[in-house]
Amino acid sequence: MKIAIDIDNTICKTTEFYGELAVLYDREILRKNNKIDYTKGIPRSDSWSKEELKYFISNYYNKNLLNIPVIEKAPYYIRMLKKNGAQITFITNRGNKEDDIAGEITPEYLAINNIPYDELITKANEKYKYLEDYDYFIDDSIKECTLAASNTKCRVIMMNTPQNSDFSDNRILKVGSWEEIYIILMGEK
Ligand SMILES: [Mg+2]
Repeated sequence: MKIAIDIDNTICKTTEFYGELAVLYDREILRKNNKIDYTKGIPRSDSWSKEELKYFISNYYNKNLLNIPVIEKAPYYIRMLKKNGAQITFITNRGNKEDDIAGEITPEYLAINNIPYDELITKANEKYKYLEDYDYFIDDSIKECTLAASNTKCRVIMMNTPQNSDFSDNRILKVGSWEEIYIILMGEK
């Protein structure tokens, strides 16, 4: 069984974690009250200047990449899948944006959280292009899940987030936890 798994908001709480830091930065450092856009890969305010965003990325985003909390039991169930013979690939578009160093730091993040894997693909947008011989694709992105459902033979599983809560597509299975994912994958084995 070959499984391709996204990282941000699929195995870790990226938007929730950085959203809180973006609010803190906006209120306490910039002394503003801007609206934060949680749909961006790195939560931010559209009202921040280029320099303000740059400051946020180097001093908040890049410095906290190892501190993003994992989603409950994700490491445990990924280890269980591995024990049951699954081949695990992490596939992320980290490293693509602005000055982020997330792609480079991901192996260390996976190691300290005791998450095993066989392969790591970074800077991947349009992930479906990598999924030719995979059985499962797990992601939270509406765009990536829809493209994978249309263009691959993968069973597509979408991790619920506040950003995709209204989305539904009968080709895509929505789940709320890693326990659910584990039960589905083991049941279909
Ligand atoms: Mg994601």
